[in-house]
Amino acid sequence: QKVIFSGAQPTGSLTLGNYIGAIQNWKALEKDYNCLYSIVDLHSLTVRHDPKAFMQANLSFLAQYLASGLDPEKNIIFFQSHVPQHAELSWILSCNTYMGELNRMTQFKEKSDKHKDNINAGLFTYPALMAADILLYKTNLVPVGEDQKQHLELTRDIALRLNNVYGDIFEIPEVYIPKVGARIMSLQEPTKKMSKSDDDVNGTIYLLDPNDVIIKKFKRAVTDNENKVVFRDEQPGIKNLMTIYSKLGNLTLEEVEAKYQGKGYGAFKTDVGELIVDYISPFKQKYEEYMNNSDYLEKIYKSGAERAREIAERTMVEVREKLGLVKL
Ligand code: ATP
Ligand code: MG
Repeated sequence: QKVIFSGAQPTGSLTLGNYIGAIQNWKALEKDYNCLYSIVDLHSLTVRHDPKAFMQANLSFLAQYLASGLDPEKNIIFFQSHVPQHAELSWILSCNTYMGELNRMTQFKEKSDKHKDNINAGLFTYPALMAADILLYKTNLVPVGEDQKQHLELTRDIALRLNNVYGDIFEIPEVYIPKVGARIMSLQEPTKKMSKSDDDVNGTIYLLDPNDVIIKKFKRAVTDNENKVVFRDEQPGIKNLMTIYSKLGNLTLEEVEAKYQGKGYGAFKTDVGELIVDYISPFKQKYEEYMNNSDYLEKIYKSGAERAREIAERTMVEVREKLGLVKL
C-alpha cells in the first residue's frame, strides 16, 4: 500500500483553511493509503512561543485531529518531536540543499517579513525539515494546501539529488492538492491566504471559535459592491465564501450560484455562517470529549510515536549506510 504523510504546525489552533485545504482530504484518503499524520511541533519552534501555552496547544491539536474524524488505528498520528529521526535526516538534507533554493521560498520571505526581529536559521531551513518529514517514510503522496506546493517541489529535487549521488534511497513524492479549496482566503483580505498565525483574527475562522463569533466573522467578511453571488476573479471575497460554502455544503459552485441568484450578500453571508456552525458542531463536541480524556490522548501519541519510529529508523539505517557513516 502506498504511503501518505502530512501535518500541521501546532501554533494556535486549526483553521477552516487547514480543514478544507488539508484535513478533509487526509480523512478521505485514509482508506486507500498507509497514512502518517503528524503534529509538526519542531516546525513551530521557528516562531517564538510560550512553553506552557505551547504544550497545551500540542495536546489540543491532537484532540482536534481526532475530532476531525482521523482514525488513530488506521493512521499513525504522532508528534514530530517524538521521532528524533526527523531532526537527524533534516541535517543530512540541509547539507544537500542550496542557499539559492531556500532563498526562493515564498513562505520564508513572507514569514521573515512578518517576524523581522526573529529571522532565525530554522525559519530558513524549514523546507529541509519538511523534506525530512516526508522522505523519512518513503512517502508517495502529500495532501496539502496550495501554499505548500513550492516546498513539495523542493522536496522532490532534494530526493532526486540524493538518489543520484548515493543510490536509490527515497521515493519521489507527489503533491495532492484539492481542485476546489486549495487556498482559502482571509475573510478580511481576500487576496491573502487564511492563516492561523494571522494578526487579524477576524480574517480567520478557527474551528474552535464560538458559534456567535463564527457568524459575526462571516457577516463582516470583506466583499464588493456587485451584490451578485458569482464565482469570478474580480470578486475574490465572494469567490472565497462560495468556495467554503461549496466544500462544506456539498454543493457544486454552479449550484451555489443558482441558489443565490437574485439574492443579496446579506442572506448569503448569514447562510454561510450558519452552515459552518452546523458543520463544525459535532467536531466541537468530540473535541471536548477528547480533551477531557488525557489518558486516551497519551495512549494515542505513544502508540503513534512507536509505530512511526520503527519506519523512520528503517529508512535511517539505509541512509546512514549509503552515506558512509560507520554503523554502531
Ligand atoms: P501558519 O500561519 O502557522 O503557517 P497555516 O494556517 O498556514 O498556519 P500550517 O500548519 O502551516 O497552517 O499548514 C497546515 C496545512 O494546511 C498545510 O497543508 C497547508 O497547506 C494547509 N493550509 C494552510 N492554510 C491554508 C489555506 N488558507 N487554504 C488551504 N489550505 C491551507
Ligand atoms: Mg503555514
